[in-house]
Amino acid sequence: MKHVSLLRPRILAFLPDHFSRPADPDVDPRPQRTTHRAHPRRLGTAAILASVALLLGGGTAVAAPAPAGPAPDAAVDCSAAGAKCIALTFDDGPAPRTPELLDILDRHGAESTFFMVGRQIERRPSTVRMVRDRGHEVGNHSANHRVLTELSEREIRAEISEVNDLVRREIGRSPTLMRPPYGETDATVAKVIRDLGMTQVIWNVDSEDWKGHDSATITRRTLADAKPGAIVLMHDTIDPTIEAVPTILRELKARGYTMVTVSDLLRSGQADLDRFEGGPTALPVESASAP
Ligand SMILES: [Zn+2]
Repeated sequence: MKHVSLLRPRILAFLPDHFSRPADPDVDPRPQRTTHRAHPRRLGTAAILASVALLLGGGTAVAAPAPAGPAPDAAVDCSAAGAKCIALTFDDGPAPRTPELLDILDRHGAESTFFMVGRQIERRPSTVRMVRDRGHEVGNHSANHRVLTELSEREIRAEISEVNDLVRREIGRSPTLMRPPYGETDATVAKVIRDLGMTQVIWNVDSEDWKGHDSATITRRTLADAKPGAIVLMHDTIDPTIEAVPTILRELKARGYTMVTVSDLLRSGQADLDRFEGGPTALPVESASAP
């Protein structure tokens, strides 16, 4: 029996200064423009929220993109009995090490979803194409990584639309998935996302890589909470995450998982998510005792 509470999750993200690695030839020496802030986490580590705000009309919201270059395991049917699919997601890029991460994913036949920030897309537009060409999904993570719940409806729309335009310019189609920065959402944010014909995607497994953990801890945390149908929060902007991914992929494969995009998971109907179409008071959050 799954217990839900109506507490609105407040997922924070304290992210290191991942936009200024000296090894990056196109690094911008100016202070990062993307704002990250930390705020306290209300939920226990196991009490991870999971929510996908589907468009009115449900599943049609994820009538999404067939990847251009499917990874080797792309043929798996996540809706088949016994299938174990999981969606790894990487936020805040494109980042200097995103191409390296793509190589790692390729080696393990893993697909994933990259929730990209507009300002980063402008700095590394070719990486957007690379992500698409390697069979992964490009999602929207807002133009400036601001807390959308603190913005006006017009500003929220601008934050999202700008990234849709940037991505469409690079790969010819707009993202269908939107992940609000820090997982911060409310009725207005959800409405704007719906109005734009997109699906809001939060996560239900948190690697906690944004907490400054080393790769061993990120690996342990991720594998401890991994379950079929999960959407896993990670960041391609964080070095220990990149270093953790090979072990995570090896172990997930050993456990029989296939790594798929969020849209594939949603289409399969197997996503282990609570879905809502309303505002924040309708947003269910799994309690620590949830399976
Ligand atoms: Zn983020």
